Amino acid sequence: RERWRQVRERDLEEQVQARTRELQAANLYPYFKALRSAPGSEVVVDGHKVIMAGSNNYLGLTQHPKVMEAAKKAVDKYGSGCTGSRFLNGTLDIHEELEARLARFMKKEAALVFSTGFQTNLGAISALVGKEDTAVCDRGDHASIVDGCRLAFGKALKYRHNDMEELEGVLSSIQNGGGVLIVVDGVFSMEGTLANLPGIVKAKRHFGARLMVDDAHGIGVLGEHGRGTGEHFGLEADVDVVMGTFSKSFASLGGFVASTEEVIHFIKHQARALIFSASMPPSAVATALAALDIIESEPDRRIKVRRNADRMRNSLAEMGFNVGKGETPIVPIIIGDEMKVFQFWRRLLEEGVFANPVISPAVAPNNALIRTSYMATHTDEELDKVLRIFERVGVEFGLINKRRRA
Ligand code: PMP
Repeated sequence: RERWRQVRERDLEEQVQARTRELQAANLYPYFKALRSAPGSEVVVDGHKVIMAGSNNYLGLTQHPKVMEAAKKAVDKYGSGCTGSRFLNGTLDIHEELEARLARFMKKEAALVFSTGFQTNLGAISALVGKEDTAVCDRGDHASIVDGCRLAFGKALKYRHNDMEELEGVLSSIQNGGGVLIVVDGVFSMEGTLANLPGIVKAKRHFGARLMVDDAHGIGVLGEHGRGTGEHFGLEADVDVVMGTFSKSFASLGGFVASTEEVIHFIKHQARALIFSASMPPSAVATALAALDIIESEPDRRIKVRRNADRMRNSLAEMGFNVGKGETPIVPIIIGDEMKVFQFWRRLLEEGVFANPVISPAVAPNNALIRTSYMATHTDEELDKVLRIFERVGVEFGLINKRRRA
């Protein structure tokens, strides 16, 4: 079985290598595209201004004057980097301030910050899922959750995306007597769908499991106060461990977990991704703190980003595109065929829209899509332009019919 797995992984690696070379040869290679500007609602790519419809800068804070000022001041006071891990010489008073603020904001006893969101999942999951324990994951979970489970000494089981019957089946099959941690994305980052939190919480209560929600795309955006998917569903108290990143709504880099003091104390002394890696640099910490101020004080940004996304979702659906069933700032345009997605992506960019092509394994095979995502700072004119371009390219590809205008 191990040999078979190795052969399969080698085959997959070869396929990926061949595919990326093929895309480069066909001038359809979409990765590592350099922006020559700040990541705002308009960016400069290949010497042209294009509308950014593919970033995670949901609240548009990367260029907010207060956020930029806070980062600059932090460099003046603390210098450019911490040159050490939180554990030994890399803890600043502002790391502690950020943790205290996040705990209060998320209504948990304690929080712990890591240098990236990816490392947060690696560190927290591998610490929490010990030898006798089992992690139970949605098949659509983010790569960092999958890798966190791979690092953990415990077992990992999966259920079909948002399939509550299968989740219950998996939970009822666990008999080894250890703890069970369900780990899900709150917002699934490619399709923009929400976890079925009410169903998961029901199952968790019935089977006595614990729940960890990766709310990288939910915090700052969902819920009345921006506390994410748990707040959106009114189920925050049932989320035992909540994880977030600073690389999206917080306009920075880093991540955090929040939970009870006991759980955070445990992770703090077990998570190798925390203990053996340098801490968030001062500018990133100050950025996250300033962004948190704005998340707490400017609810209008949340309303605006959701309104912008709803408008795009409805208009694209009206044109005849398949936009799935999301309700977040992420709006996928599901096309299916991978090569078509790359060609569609290239034409969008030529016409002036930056979006992201997404293929397997980030989504299920034959479900390739163009991921668009919106910001509070997109203007109506920018969104109108994106819609016009989608309509033109959609007709060109035969994905939609030309609309008759009155
Ligand atoms: N979880 C989810 C659901 C994500 O989408 C991402 C980033 N794409 C991460 C974790 C990792 O976060 P970061 O980029 O801060 O490392």
